Amino acid sequence: MATDQMAVSAARGEVPEAFDEVADRYDLMVAMNPGYHAHLRRSARTLVAGLPAGPVSRVVDIGCGSGASTRALVDELDDSPGRAEVLGVDGSTGMLEQARRRLADVEAAIRNVEGGIYGICETCGRPIAPERLAARPAARTCIDCAP
Ligand SMILES: [Zn+2]
Repeated sequence: MATDQMAVSAARGEVPEAFDEVADRYDLMVAMNPGYHAHLRRSARTLVAGLPAGPVSRVVDIGCGSGASTRALVDELDDSPGRAEVLGVDGSTGMLEQARRRLADVEAAIRNVEGGIYGICETCGRPIAPERLAARPAARTCIDCAP
């Protein structure tokens, strides 16, 4: 099998399956790399700065994983409402499930801010440590109750 055929074969089956297997640990790995999000923000800023003037219909984040790069793009476009729709795509259903879970956590955090209960553990009702919220602003539980 030629090298390019093997790459296509891996892309269609093995690579997404490998990411499915590690998807639940991927966000932790990303969170433990403090420079990663700074690089994502810098890349998103560069990409948005290079967009043509005027409305852009869609920016596609190919290989979006659990959504950190997509989030960086959305944040960077926040100052230009309506300029672009950001679409994240990935071959790994496990990574997309993590992205959906993360989105649900962010939406819950926004509801908690609006309801005046942001930073309260959903399991035990005690305050979540500020250090935990700094690292994971959408954390729903304190570290003791973390799943
Ligand atoms: Zn708790």
